[in-house]
Amino acid sequence: MFRGNLFVLSGPSGVGKDAILERILKIVPNLVKSVSYTTRPKRPSEEDGKNYFFVDEKKFKEMIENGEFLEWAVVHGYLYGTPKKMVEDCIKRGMDVILKIDVQGGVNVKKIYNEAKLIFVLPPDFNELKRRLISRETESLEDLNLRLRNAPLEISKISYYDYAVVNDNLDEAVDMVRCIIYAERHRLCKEKIEYFLNIFGGAKDERDRY
Ligand code: 5GP
Repeated sequence: MFRGNLFVLSGPSGVGKDAILERILKIVPNLVKSVSYTTRPKRPSEEDGKNYFFVDEKKFKEMIENGEFLEWAVVHGYLYGTPKKMVEDCIKRGMDVILKIDVQGGVNVKKIYNEAKLIFVLPPDFNELKRRLISRETESLEDLNLRLRNAPLEISKISYYDYAVVNDNLDEAVDMVRCIIYAERHRLCKEKIEYFLNIFGGAKDERDRY
């Protein structure tokens, strides 16, 4: 059995990451979502332990000190962090893990874990992003403006990412993310090559790039 893959899904607030992820988790087997910790207040539609683990700043800082996060960042004024143990355990057991985190988190994950595949979700244009953020009615006006101001900053980090998916049509965006996951599952690596060569008794080619 091979180690699982680590995927990161990022993009400006309101771009539709949650909607894409919800659908992807239903149609892609052997893929789990990491549930982050946050100090942001819970929205009425959210469930503790499902959307996030909602904790206070004291608890979050203890977790930082205990090295419990794979990465953590301040996003739109609150602390968010990815639990290290859950991600590592799943990958070791051969499960693929997907993180829905901001660009700072994505860049940090890539530094620690170079094989991680980073997917950036973009809106078709800025006005559409604004319209989606306003229509979901989950933020105060102040928070909404902060999220809109942060969008160009997040997009400026796109060069760190491996894939870009424009979410103009949800079905198509979901299909693109699904294809990326399946393509990455079939990517060759040293371990897979050795496995296939062992099974079929082939000798290693001297042009082997691994
Ligand atoms: P929201 O408050 O809308 O759920 O999330 C705000 C932003 O924080 C989103 O861009 C989301 O992807 C990001 N985020 C959620 N969890 C984490 C995490 O564990 N680490 C980092 N770096 N960002 C996160």
